[in-house]
Amino acid sequence: MKTVLIIDDDPVVGLIINRILARDGWRVVVAKDGEEGLKLAAEHHPELIICDLLMPRTNGFVVCRTLRQDAPHTLRIIVTTTSAYESDRNSALEAGADAFYIKPVAPESFLNAVKRVMTADHPRTKKPPGRKRRTGRPVVEPLKSDGTATVRFWGVRGSIPTPGPAKAHYGGNTTCVEFRAEGEVIVLDAGTGIRDLGLALQKEAAGRPVRANILITHTHWDHIQGFPFFVPAYHPQNEVQVFGYEGARQGLEAVFSSQMENPYFPVSLEQMPGHVKIREQREMEFAIGEVKVKAAFVNHPGICVGYRLESRAGTVVFVPDYEPFSRFKLHSMDAATSSTEMVHDFVHQQDQKMVEFIRGADVLIMDAQYDTEEYQHHVGWGHSCVEDTVATALAGGVKRLYLFHHDPGHNDRKIHAMVAEAKRLVKRTGAKLIVKGAREGDTCVLKPALRRTTRGT
Ligand SMILES: [Zn+2]
Ligand SMILES: [Zn+2]
Repeated sequence: MKTVLIIDDDPVVGLIINRILARDGWRVVVAKDGEEGLKLAAEHHPELIICDLLMPRTNGFVVCRTLRQDAPHTLRIIVTTTSAYESDRNSALEAGADAFYIKPVAPESFLNAVKRVMTADHPRTKKPPGRKRRTGRPVVEPLKSDGTATVRFWGVRGSIPTPGPAKAHYGGNTTCVEFRAEGEVIVLDAGTGIRDLGLALQKEAAGRPVRANILITHTHWDHIQGFPFFVPAYHPQNEVQVFGYEGARQGLEAVFSSQMENPYFPVSLEQMPGHVKIREQREMEFAIGEVKVKAAFVNHPGICVGYRLESRAGTVVFVPDYEPFSRFKLHSMDAATSSTEMVHDFVHQQDQKMVEFIRGADVLIMDAQYDTEEYQHHVGWGHSCVEDTVATALAGGVKRLYLFHHDPGHNDRKIHAMVAEAKRLVKRTGAKLIVKGAREGDTCVLKPALRRTTRGT
């Protein structure tokens, strides 16, 4: 006589299954929770286990995983649940279940499920069938270009989204900027701002395929957390390419997929129906269509780059997270060492690399998280103060500067004051640099002939 172990914390369900299987000729053993189930499984060596998912003292996923570690592979496990979610089904199969049965338990269909599982001679499915990763050439053609380039801000905040009336003017979404040029949609970082951008792209396409290129500066949360909500990645006809660099511990794809793993999100990166391709870059220069992309490593914890995008209509540089090397380095050294001329020269050379990177840009979008006073308490946090950002922009001879990566603690009044301070600093030098505080919804259009910028909304 074959033995079945029923593990269910609901005595009524346990009894129903017990009756159905006993009538069918099974010897039935019943456990009231996962912990008891594992104990009884070791004692009775059942051929079949019927296991609930949501149980106290060891849930069904853990029971399956534990059983699969040392039980014979002839053991069959059916998970029974009230939850019909696809992600739960996949998790149960991954944990080691052979089948997934959604309650209520109806005698005939339940017996059929048992029969199917017991007679199946194919090996147990370890992993649910995932979407086949499509590779190869881009599938969606670029848009028609009118010769201009547009910058549009979708998320301007650093660290964490900060909604609320006191922040409504500049906006509370984390980092995401759209750059459109040469028919390409280039998305700079995938903070929470990317959600609205995705919806807008989908709406604009009106049923036609969308092609989006996402450039990631680094994988701190505020720069990737919106990606799972990027709607174009859920439409099979769309093409979403993600460019970036390998991190300190893992490659770009591993970081992207891990934030979408089951405990954090119900859909995995692999299951996204769109044509999503993660393109980890080895070189610091590459091209997206006709747009030239240059990347440079910047001073920020971990691996972080800035991007310089060159199009016929103009050049945009994006450095959302950056701390000038000299400030940080000199601060962290003892007085005797930091006063040597050699050290000073060295750190200033490092900062000079940033000046060269932004040189002559039409638009510079740059970290200016703190005011000078606040920065004194945040040296080594990886961000800049307004004073340094303005100095860098002036040294690089850029035309327009957007103060970016607003501190989550700063309300609109505070940011207004910081922008005003930046303008004062520029005025004092007599330079022509235009300074603005980056604001959600603002756009800036670059025109090739006049090389003049105008602001929209
Ligand atoms: Zn950041
Ligand atoms: Zn960061």
